[in-house]
Amino acid sequence: MNELHSPLASRTIPCNECPAGVMHSRHITYFTWLGEELVTVPNFPAWVCDMCGKREYDERAVTLLSMLLNPEAGKPTRRVKRAPQPDPRKRNISHPRSTDG
Ligand SMILES: [Zn+2]
Repeated sequence: MNELHSPLASRTIPCNECPAGVMHSRHITYFTWLGEELVTVPNFPAWVCDMCGKREYDERAVTLLSMLLNPEAGKPTRRVKRAPQPDPRKRNISHPRSTDG
């Protein structure tokens, strides 16, 4: 689940709020409400204008996140059964010494 971090490698887009501003990719904390719960997502990819400070969350990441928060996405996944692995170490069988002699 590291896909939130992918494709924003030092790119810029023109700001649509101010004519001269340029938006840089940053990671900020994303806030959203899930029912009555405030959900915060740290290190969320977003665009921040260096002139007016406008923030715009990365669209793909928002889509991904809403998929994650969607109850439909919370269906239980299949569990992979682990085969029991034999112990590779050989057991030391202790030989009782006979002290006859
Ligand atoms: Zn701006």
